[in-house]
Formats: sequence, structure tokens, C-alpha cells
Amino acid sequence: RTVYVNGDYVPENEATISVFDRGFLFADAVYEVTSVLDGKLIDFPGHMARLSRSLGELDMAAPVSDDELLDIHRRLLSENDLVEGMIYLQVTRGAADRDFLFPEADTRPNLVLFTQEKSLIDSPLAERGQKVRSVDDLRWRRSDIKTTQLLYASWAKSRAHAGGADDVWLVRDGHVTEGSSNNAYIVTADGTIVTRHLSPEILSGITRQAVLQCARELQIKVEERPFTLDEVRGAREAFSTSASSFVSPVIEMDGMAIGDGEPGPVARRLREIYIEKSRAAAI
Ligand code: PMP
Repeated sequence: RTVYVNGDYVPENEATISVFDRGFLFADAVYEVTSVLDGKLIDFPGHMARLSRSLGELDMAAPVSDDELLDIHRRLLSENDLVEGMIYLQVTRGAADRDFLFPEADTRPNLVLFTQEKSLIDSPLAERGQKVRSVDDLRWRRSDIKTTQLLYASWAKSRAHAGGADDVWLVRDGHVTEGSSNNAYIVTADGTIVTRHLSPEILSGITRQAVLQCARELQIKVEERPFTLDEVRGAREAFSTSASSFVSPVIEMDGMAIGDGEPGPVARRLREIYIEKSRAAAI
């Protein structure tokens, strides 16, 4: 596999980053994951707009221009002949003597990209439906910034997996915030889609934005507000969204079936429509 490091396209085993890199030492880094279908980028402008925002919130400089970012993504896809999967981008504040204080503003950021082949359209998990567990949301309260500080989500998901679940939904003050790496939704008895409103407590999903737009076009009522675990247990169906999973049904919460315990029609329909629309708009 060829990866990108600070202007160079190199074999993955020749790529190097300093041990003093602040991404490595402090998770002082932001990232984006863009999915790839038919060798093209899905929702690319949205991912790059969110990257700019994450960088801005952390007073980090953009390493290259937006136009260059598109060129780099495309070149790396073609270097790896990637047809379906994802492309990962990370910007760190760069390498400096270890210090809690941010280094001088002229520290050179590190920019790294790699591709990962993955079957996205054919997804056994989306066919079967996910079993999720609820856990306390113990992350910092700026989850709107897409940092690489992912240990809590990774730890919680791994523990849930060891217990037979597929993922976790995070709960704060009795309400679901989001999934470990996805946004969370329920469909109520009257057919309304409910998902938490945007705030510093959740990531503004690029897929979320597109899927809510699909829902509105299908004239499905959408409410953006916090919802409780009781509401999840009483929901007709539930699902999650992310760039790498699109729309993925949730069939169980803490061992209890949601609805009839099968992937629901709203999630299935939204998955189809989202894939069709975003594929047609891919660049
Ligand atoms: N929330 C969290 C915590 C995430 O990590 C992700 C995926 N990066 C999402 C939501 C979904 O965002 P997107 O649709 O842009 O992939």
C-alpha cells in the first residue's frame, strides 16, 4: 500500500513520523474519514469543511489548501487502485519538545493519508442489524471537534464487543448522545425520526446531514432533540449513520429487542436512498 506523508507518496513500510509528534504524544491531531465508492469520494466537500472547522477550533494551521487536499485524495486513490473502502486523513500539530504548552506557531503540521479497502455496500452487519449497549458518555465535552482522542470510545466498544454486542451508544444525563463512531437515531411509534440536536456534545456527522435531508425529501418527520434509553427501548426501530457504515440498523439495546428485533423499513429505505444519491454525487 502507498501512503501519503507530508508531500510524499511512499510504501507504507517506508513512511516515518517523529516520536515527538504531538499527535502521538497528546492526541493533538484531527482527522477525517471519507468513504470511496466506484473509486470516487463520497460527501467530500462536507468532510473538508468539517476538517477546516476542527483545525480552526484548535488554532491549528491548515497544512495545504483545499484544492491540494482534493488532488492528494485523488492521487492516493489511484496509486492504490482503490475502488471501494475509505480514505483516512490526519493532521497533527507537528513535532516539538514534549510540553503541555502548544509549540511555536511556526511548527510544521504533519499531514498523513492512507487508504483502506473495505466492502461498504455489502455489509453483513447492516443486513443483520447491530446489537448495542449503553454506557456512560465519559468523553470530554467537545466531541464536535474531530480529534484523534478516541480511547474512551475504542475501550467502551471493545468491552461491549467482548460481551457479545456490536457497538455502544453513549449516554449523558439520561439521554443518548451518539454511538462510539456514529450518530444515533430512533423511529418513534408515530414514524418520527429522532436524533440528538447538534451541540459541542456530539460530532456533526456529514452522513447525518445528508441522511436527514433524504428523510425530509421522503416527507418523514424529523425531530432533533435528546432522547432517553426508555425511548430507545420503546422505539419502532433504531439506526446509526457514519461515513463508513452509511445507515446501519440497530435491533437490540442492552439485550432487549427494538421493535420486532429486525432491521426496520425506515433504516433500510434511508440506506438505499443515501447510497444512491451520494454515489451519483461522488467526485
Ligand atoms: N460521531 C462520532 C463520534 C464519530 O466518530 C463519527 C464518525 N467519524 C460520526 C459521529 C459520524 O460522522 P460522519 O457521518 O461524518 O462519518
